[in-house]
Amino acid sequence: MGSAGVSFDLGGARAASFNVGDLYLRLDEVFDLRADLAPYFGGRDLAVPEAFPTQSFFVAAGPLRVVVDPSDYGRLVAPDHFRSPEGYARPPPLDAQLSAAGVSPGSVTHVVVTHLHFDHYAGVTKGGALAFPSARYIVPAKDWAMPDIAEARKKGDRDVTETLGVVEAAGRLELLDGPLDLGDGVTVEPYPGESPGHQVVGLRSAHDSCYFVGDLYHLAEEVEHPELAAAWADARALTASRRRFSERAAAERALVLPGHLPAGRIGFRGSAPTWTEEPA
Ligand SMILES: [Zn+2]
Repeated sequence: MGSAGVSFDLGGARAASFNVGDLYLRLDEVFDLRADLAPYFGGRDLAVPEAFPTQSFFVAAGPLRVVVDPSDYGRLVAPDHFRSPEGYARPPPLDAQLSAAGVSPGSVTHVVVTHLHFDHYAGVTKGGALAFPSARYIVPAKDWAMPDIAEARKKGDRDVTETLGVVEAAGRLELLDGPLDLGDGVTVEPYPGESPGHQVVGLRSAHDSCYFVGDLYHLAEEVEHPELAAAWADARALTASRRRFSERAAAERALVLPGHLPAGRIGFRGSAPTWTEEPA
């Protein structure tokens, strides 16, 4: 799976993706995909680990400087977490990649987390402090309230206390329940299912649009078969969100940027959505 980031202009705005590191996942283990789903995957062996990039995103639009899903590979591959591919040379951390792109942490005005799974928020702090000291941190209210986050906070789980807990203690956590228009073409909208409050960040100009969709899709097959749901998802809500999103993305010919896939576009063949990876 490709792991190079993309960078592009949209209207007067600029956006970029940064792969903070590949995770090594077995589809049957991680997604609990049943053997009878194998036909969806065209012979792909679900028991063979595959490398999935973990991407964070940056948008500069008007005065807005937005980071979507700041991650931290060092935290993700700590013991008892994800595996790194064997012999893998990890890319520089997010702050170094942002800095190489000319973005200083202090200039970031907003951090938006699409959903409260660790790989999407592990980088909200760095060395115990806010990674983006001036930013508003916008997270889904329904995810903050979900049982595993509530439980982790109660037990003092460091994955949460040293990240979102620090943001909360700093008075910078903004719990969002519903759509939010940040202005300058940037929106946050709920597309639930992967998690109760999963949200998508949109960037629109007069003629073009793109969407940072988090884990609305982890795999191209999920675009084409919107009912394919991981074990933890609310399958009904997820399928509805994917149908709603795919129609919109296809109508707008939008560029779609999932958290763990290279950028692509959604089309339709008859009533079936299709996924086409964007040429690099
Ligand atoms: Zn993810």
